[in-house]
Amino acid sequence: MNRAQYRGRLAPSPTGYLHLGHARTFWAAQERARMHGGELILRNEDLDATRFKMEFAGAMIEDLRWFGFEWSEGPDVGGKFAPYNQSERMDFYRAALEKLRAGNFIYPCTCSRKDIQAATRAPHANDDDEPIYPGTCRPKSDEWRVTSDTNPAVTSPVARPLSRPANWRFRVPDGETISFADGNCGAQKFVAGKDFGDFVVWRGDDVPAYQLACVVDDAAMQVTEVVRGSDLLVSAARQILLYRALNLLVPDFYHCELMRDDKGMRLAKRHDSLSLRQLREHGESPENLRRGWVTKD
Ligand code: GLU
Repeated sequence: MNRAQYRGRLAPSPTGYLHLGHARTFWAAQERARMHGGELILRNEDLDATRFKMEFAGAMIEDLRWFGFEWSEGPDVGGKFAPYNQSERMDFYRAALEKLRAGNFIYPCTCSRKDIQAATRAPHANDDDEPIYPGTCRPKSDEWRVTSDTNPAVTSPVARPLSRPANWRFRVPDGETISFADGNCGAQKFVAGKDFGDFVVWRGDDVPAYQLACVVDDAAMQVTEVVRGSDLLVSAARQILLYRALNLLVPDFYHCELMRDDKGMRLAKRHDSLSLRQLREHGESPENLRRGWVTKD
């Protein structure tokens, strides 16, 4: 992407205390923004009210500041693309959903609750990535149209109420290879329908899924490069399809290796001792913690 000014973002979800693994990825994001003389924004990804807790949102900002992060736009400082809390941006997501529906990129799906619940959070590990959807609710014909005239039970979620709650799934172009050059991991290729399937963009309980909210916000906030963990590489392929469907500019991607514990497990909330909070309480200094972290130019 060739935009005059580099804009990067930190996009944590307030579902627990941030740990050292978050800090390392975010540090790369901050370093990349600095190297390019750009801006860094903070976006609070608080869409899933069932999982997020208010105390974590406050702690998140405090921990990030303690560690040495600085952002010029965010929920605490405002900015030209406010609001920076996703829970306050529903109108943006609804407008995008309506566009996808009008373009027949999505279809309603009444499959299991489990898939639906998983959709709001970013698919961080293989075990919680969206399974390839078997196509149960996928309309058979390309001529298919969702309108309230053809099927009164299925109306746009924008025109609520639905007679029964449905998720909305993005229909992926089976067999198409989605490729992109990742700034850190190099050339990437994912085949639609094989490496990932039709994915949820909106949940039946009226919450936008991570994939949609992320694309809508990165585009609206004019993010030029997305820096995040490498477990989201396949999500970049899903998101590229959404950018295309919504006719939005695709940002550059830079996915960082994940920090692992001594057993090779990805750091997670269970690694309490590595939460920034605890490290700080134990007298660790941010400078010491980030010794040896290198970010590629
Ligand atoms: N809030 C998402 C997370 O918790 C952000 C993912 C992204 O950076 O796109 O990982």
